[in-house]
Amino acid sequence: MSTLRHDPAATAAAPSAPAASKPAHSDHPSTVAKGKFNPRELDWVVIVGLIFLHGAAAFAFIPSLFTWSGLVLAFVFAFIATCLGMCVCYHRLLSHRSFRTPKWFEYVLVWCGCLAWQGGPVGWVGTHRLHHKHSDGDHDPHTPQHGFTWAHITWFMHKYHHGVERRQAATDLLKDRGLRFLDTYAWLPLVVLIAALFGAGYAWGTWVSDMNGLQVGLSWVVWAVALRTVVFFHITWFVNSASHTWGYQNYKDSGDHSTNLWWLALPSFGEGWHNNHHANPRSAAHGLRWWEFDITYTVIKMLSWVGLASRLNVPPTERRPWKKTA
Ligand SMILES: [Zn+2]
Ligand SMILES: [Zn+2]
Repeated sequence: MSTLRHDPAATAAAPSAPAASKPAHSDHPSTVAKGKFNPRELDWVVIVGLIFLHGAAAFAFIPSLFTWSGLVLAFVFAFIATCLGMCVCYHRLLSHRSFRTPKWFEYVLVWCGCLAWQGGPVGWVGTHRLHHKHSDGDHDPHTPQHGFTWAHITWFMHKYHHGVERRQAATDLLKDRGLRFLDTYAWLPLVVLIAALFGAGYAWGTWVSDMNGLQVGLSWVVWAVALRTVVFFHITWFVNSASHTWGYQNYKDSGDHSTNLWWLALPSFGEGWHNNHHANPRSAAHGLRWWEFDITYTVIKMLSWVGLASRLNVPPTERRPWKKTA
């Protein structure tokens, strides 16, 4: 069984970012400090990749490439890649260490995270820690204070995104050989998944169902990889943009413009309770009031029941201002 901890550190500021005490974004100061669109700084590899992925996702709407099995697989891999990989692992485990898990299971979760096509764990965690450290300030990598579109997508299209500083903010991960390997080969799980989905779909269509094997194989890839990835890209990006723009604040003292946004909290597996998170960055739970349903925290609690999560940080009662503390 797990132990719920009222860790004072859960109410502290953003997690430590080792070696990130130098002036922010020294590699590309002009772009980052002002948050401006800069044609000379555009990362065309990322842009072409995004265009390709959105184009591939559009194929899901060709009637002959729709299958109910493809739709089900899209939901299954949304849960595996985004809920388990990004929310449980990249965010609440690696970025904030809000609970503990066995090392072997951490690697399994990182493998899941690589399926979200958001890169390896080191860069993601480093960028996210910089977001907490400079939240809604000049050096926040993605704040709507620099424009809603900038926070949603444009920041990601600039080269500084690959700067050295975000790796410096995640040096604790770089010390782990297994995480370094998965960070270097973050593309591998996705390639394996695409090959496996196409092969299994082809076999299913050829020998089990009445449909064409090629048709089913392509259907599974465009629904469970392309469309699923694009949809959850935008849901993730809305956490950066919408959850610093609209919604309510349980914590006026969070020191930034983060908000709780119910319509985003549901599809983002609980990440939309973002003001709660900024105010309590090391809390494993982001939904804190009774109506703030947090799917990711529910999953972490279920993992704790089978021994795969322990020492779950949650804010103490005095950090829940809507509760009477007398
Ligand atoms: Zn935020
Ligand atoms: Zn965070």
